Amino acid sequence: MSEKKWVYLFDEIEEAEKYAGSWDGVRGLMGGKGANLAEMTRIGVPVPPFFTITTEACNAFLANDNQFPERMWEQSLEALKGVEKASEKKFGDPNNPLLVSCRSGAKMSMPGMMDTVLNIGLNDETAEGMVNITENERFVYDAYRRLIAMFGAVVLGINDEKFEEVLDKIKKEKKAEADTDLSADDLKELVEKFKAVVKKEKGFDFPQDPVEQMRLATEAVFSSWNVKRAVDYRKAANIPDDLGTAVNIVTMVFGNSGWQSGTGVAFTRNPSTGEKVLFGEYLLNAQGEDVVAGIRNTQKIQEMEEVLPKAYKQFVEITQKLENHYKEMQDVEFTIENGRLWMLQTRNGKRTAKAAVKIAVDMANDDFITKQEAISRVTATQVDTLLHPQFLGDTLMKARDEGKQFASGVNASPGAAVGRIYFDADTAERMANEENQDVIMVRPFTKPDDVHGMLASKGILTSEGGATSHAAVVARQFGVPCVVGASMVKIDIEKRQLEADGVVVKEGEWISIDGGTGEAFLGKIEVTAPSLEEQTDLMTLLTWADDICAEPGIRDVPDGWPTTGLQVWANADYPADARRARAYGAKGIGLCRTEHMFFEQERLPSVQRMILANSDKEREDALSDLLPHQRSDFEGLFEAMDGYPVIIRLIDPPLHEFLPSEEVLLEEVITMRVKGEKKGLPEKEALLESVRSMHESNPMMGLRGIRLSVVMPQIVEMQVRAIFEAAANMRLKGVDAKPEVMIPLTGHINELNHIQPRLIEIAKEVMEQKKVDFEYKFGTMIEIPRAALTAGEIASVAEFFSFGTNDLTQMTFGYSRDDAERNFLVTYIEEGILPRNPFQSVDQDGVGRLMKMSVDEGRSTRENLEVGICGEHGGDPDSIDFCHRIGQNYVSCSPFRVPVARLAAAHAAIKYSAKR
Ligand code: PEP
Ligand code: MG
Repeated sequence: MSEKKWVYLFDEIEEAEKYAGSWDGVRGLMGGKGANLAEMTRIGVPVPPFFTITTEACNAFLANDNQFPERMWEQSLEALKGVEKASEKKFGDPNNPLLVSCRSGAKMSMPGMMDTVLNIGLNDETAEGMVNITENERFVYDAYRRLIAMFGAVVLGINDEKFEEVLDKIKKEKKAEADTDLSADDLKELVEKFKAVVKKEKGFDFPQDPVEQMRLATEAVFSSWNVKRAVDYRKAANIPDDLGTAVNIVTMVFGNSGWQSGTGVAFTRNPSTGEKVLFGEYLLNAQGEDVVAGIRNTQKIQEMEEVLPKAYKQFVEITQKLENHYKEMQDVEFTIENGRLWMLQTRNGKRTAKAAVKIAVDMANDDFITKQEAISRVTATQVDTLLHPQFLGDTLMKARDEGKQFASGVNASPGAAVGRIYFDADTAERMANEENQDVIMVRPFTKPDDVHGMLASKGILTSEGGATSHAAVVARQFGVPCVVGASMVKIDIEKRQLEADGVVVKEGEWISIDGGTGEAFLGKIEVTAPSLEEQTDLMTLLTWADDICAEPGIRDVPDGWPTTGLQVWANADYPADARRARAYGAKGIGLCRTEHMFFEQERLPSVQRMILANSDKEREDALSDLLPHQRSDFEGLFEAMDGYPVIIRLIDPPLHEFLPSEEVLLEEVITMRVKGEKKGLPEKEALLESVRSMHESNPMMGLRGIRLSVVMPQIVEMQVRAIFEAAANMRLKGVDAKPEVMIPLTGHINELNHIQPRLIEIAKEVMEQKKVDFEYKFGTMIEIPRAALTAGEIASVAEFFSFGTNDLTQMTFGYSRDDAERNFLVTYIEEGILPRNPFQSVDQDGVGRLMKMSVDEGRSTRENLEVGICGEHGGDPDSIDFCHRIGQNYVSCSPFRVPVARLAAAHAAIKYSAKR
């Protein structure tokens, strides 16, 4: 048997493919960076010779007490020979030294989270040798001091400030403003001083043996998989912890070897807007980190055409080639060494939500990818971000006029954020998580160590850095509004305040930032929900999503079940909500909570009269006052949803919710008695008595829903009359009203048998009176476990089911939906007792099992039973995926979540497509 292969040389991608089975497997094995470097090599893009040590080796190393697996190092040294051959240089040879970088690279890109060491192979001897070859002493010692500092920090764990202090001191002595002002001799001196730092901090000398340097750097990069910032990032980006990182040993090419050299980063499309133009920055005579660190002022990539025309032309061609090859927007890093272009990295570019949608739609419109691919490339979270609040143009104008704008910078990640400022990641995270504050983190620039603070913040403001700086890249990925490079902002960490143009803002004070315009304002600015209609690319994408879901046969289900994907309906109580829902793409109303209409000012007195009535006559009078109100509400709903089904739920809550609370009444009565006020006192006392008589120990399990209708049928009789009068009136006006009446909280078929027939009688009576005939349905919510357990029976009466997963979760777990979250549920989730909050995402093993059973047994009684969900879970992408799998017809959620749900429904349809 051949030995285990831990290392792949740049031209061994086919072997990696054979072993890993797929491109995804290759990325898993060699990491994204390694796989793409090898792929670029294969398609003829100039890449410096390299080899990759696999993620499997990393995992073996981490599992075995930080020991390389057997033969890994020998294979690495073997591969090094291949690199030496291809680069025509020799590692450690003073006459022709090969220098390499040691770069991390996991399957998913984790920008800057793990470590990298450059210029490995330099030591006192090879440095001298390089000076002879390059005749550029300054360049060589610059590279050498960078190696010592980077190696010292990354590999030896020395605080990088130790090196910075020495550098600052020497710069002061030599009166040098920038690093580039230091002479060759200064840098030589710096090298010695950096070596002294290593000796002082570690007690041993900076290792001179190049192989030893490479070995220690490899170990350090493997270990960096588990540093805190990388772990935090993986958690936030949902990257599994067991992937491990690969190590890439890559021949160094130097962008800092003169003015015919340079380095840069670019995206093949604008990562902020998605526009199809090359977007990037470069620096002449500079090394990689200089660009991303945002320390030197970079030039726009297009300006490179002037200074290095040949390399620029080749660069443009290569970026196009890469985008065509990967069929995705690419984020590349390159270096030009003495006029010669080298590509150091390509990967799918991170982008804002807006850019993600535009790029996906543009690429599908250009037939570059399919519509299905376009849909799959946009996440539900991205759609959610696009519907997040923004500042209105007028509001911003006003804030500017009022002189509230105190700074501006680069608009790095769009969106509006309002929060209190904090100056370090730990405080930002603490204030957000423990104090529940809205936080804006303000830093000179961010480093990978700051990610936890960035994730906890509503927004990020930095005084340094550009559009591709760390803060910008991370913020864009997580949809956090961000302004970078607001250079007028001076941060005084000691005083915990910032100052800009004479304005001082102290830690904890409010500011507002607009990541779309790059502005920062004092105080709080009002935010507004964006309009979907104006986001034409998103509208297009969601129409494609609907088309996919509407395709018959997309879902593989038993006979008589819907073979299309899920529809998205909305929970809407008022005509205005229904209109919004329709504009957002809802294809029906899955829940109208009628009792919400009872709370309106002019109706509540009638509702209370009805509840407190002493005779049937009094009750009927009060109800007949309410009927016209309900009828007109329903007419509005039918009109707004013309042609689509409207599910109206009959009254659900316990009646005491419509009356003042016992505590308030008691206080009022006592006050009146004490003050001797007689007027109105007997009525108040009577009301108090009634409220007391209605008291229940467990009202959520008490007289509500269908139970209330059994005990007091007059309310639902009025409601059904109002529904059918409204539908008939609308029908007569030409509106295609499709009423479905939903009975809440059924637990036993006899409850339905008791109430439903008399309601149907009323429906028929109204239709007869109005002389119109139309289709309608009577159905029930499934929100009590017993209803789910007897769903087969219940479906013999109910013509549709709608899962009320709020109550179903409450009653299946036995957790009070109103209290659990503030009592123990947070602890449960933190401690991992529950994987997720079951009130947000359906508990598929428990509650979900009841749901699945209900669908199966319900449909075995009534083949075409319509099944939906109207609990909060109806807008949660994972729950939607589940609803698709169990064969539901639709999900219903709040109007604002409809766009996200449409995308999630299409994702499920594509993922489980019967046609794949
Ligand atoms: C439910 O229980 O899921 C439901 C939609 O009803 P409500 O939230 O009104 O109880
Ligand atoms: Mg309910």
